[in-house]
Amino acid sequence: MAMDLAANVSQVRERIKEAARKCGCPAEKITLVAVTKTHPVEMMRQAVDLGLTDIGENRVQEAWTKAASLDRQVRWHLIGHLQTNKVNRAVRLFDLIHAIDSEKVAFAVNHAAAALGKIQDVLVQVNVAGEKTKFGVTVAEVKPLVMSLCGLSNLRVCGLMTIAPYYNDPEQTRPIFRTMHRLFCELREENISHTHFAWLSMGMSNDYMVAVEEGANMVRVGTAIFGARPYTR
Ligand SMILES: *Cc1c(COP(=O)(O)O)cnc(C)c1O
Repeated sequence: MAMDLAANVSQVRERIKEAARKCGCPAEKITLVAVTKTHPVEMMRQAVDLGLTDIGENRVQEAWTKAASLDRQVRWHLIGHLQTNKVNRAVRLFDLIHAIDSEKVAFAVNHAAAALGKIQDVLVQVNVAGEKTKFGVTVAEVKPLVMSLCGLSNLRVCGLMTIAPYYNDPEQTRPIFRTMHRLFCELREENISHTHFAWLSMGMSNDYMVAVEEGANMVRVGTAIFGARPYTR
């Protein structure tokens, strides 16, 4: 089956618009992160030429290699777990690091960012369902972690991220997204110093419409744009 990238992109955009309309949120405020992991640079280039501006990768090394040959200007999102030994490269490349889930990695990011004279934007990853196989802090741990990071001068907490469990029926993710949105709003309203609660990153190919309906303003979509990956991760 030939894949029509342009048709896929416009379908995803259309569905985001529809979901945004349901929650009364302007669709222009929702950032579509095109998840290109495992796909070649040529596909990234085509996606950028279709107007996608935000690229998501889950491995630092893969992103680094691709960035060296992508002759386009994009915003880079690290959506996967970050190991402390990859922090230097991550900070040099990524505009937003989505998966901060410990003081340890956040302190390492802050340190690397300070060395570069950069303020690194990050999101805190929340494991709402408490799945053993996923990274992220529990709902109860979010605020204490944010409080302990807000004093770091080269790191800025810009919101929250979650990966919902996979359900055949995406409706089942709704309570998780709702919990995340509530948590996000609570923290935003607290105006914790040196934080900037701008982004709620949730929703993937299977569930991004539900996520947007529940208040996501950043969705990370791979398969629905680029087709199935050669292998899963
Ligand atoms: C792979 C991945 C995505 C995209 O998944 P699709 O189901 O292909 O849309 C989104 N977020 C994270 C963290 C991922 O690892």
